[in-house]
Amino acid sequence: MAFSRDVLMVAFRRSEGRCECTNERCEHTGRCQARFEWAGRTMSAPRDWEAHPIHGDDDSLENCALLCIPCHNRVASASGWDATDSTR
Ligand SMILES: [Zn+2]
Ligand SMILES: [Zn+2]
Repeated sequence: MAFSRDVLMVAFRRSEGRCECTNERCEHTGRCQARFEWAGRTMSAPRDWEAHPIHGDDDSLENCALLCIPCHNRVASASGWDATDSTR
């Protein structure tokens, strides 16, 4: 499962180049403020950020959260996304 490049581009614009993590398990409160660049990621070798499916196996834009690597590692190693939904 992977997000299409089109979804990633729209999601990146939506994120304004900042991590979209609102996971309560993270050290940040509210939304993570980590910034990243589009150029920091290539499809084959993610570097600065990662696109994470919030719920299950859905690769739509609504299910796509752009996360900085520390947040992504935390979400991926925990039992899953535990967002506060403050972005909706
Ligand atoms: Zn983050
Ligand atoms: Zn986080």
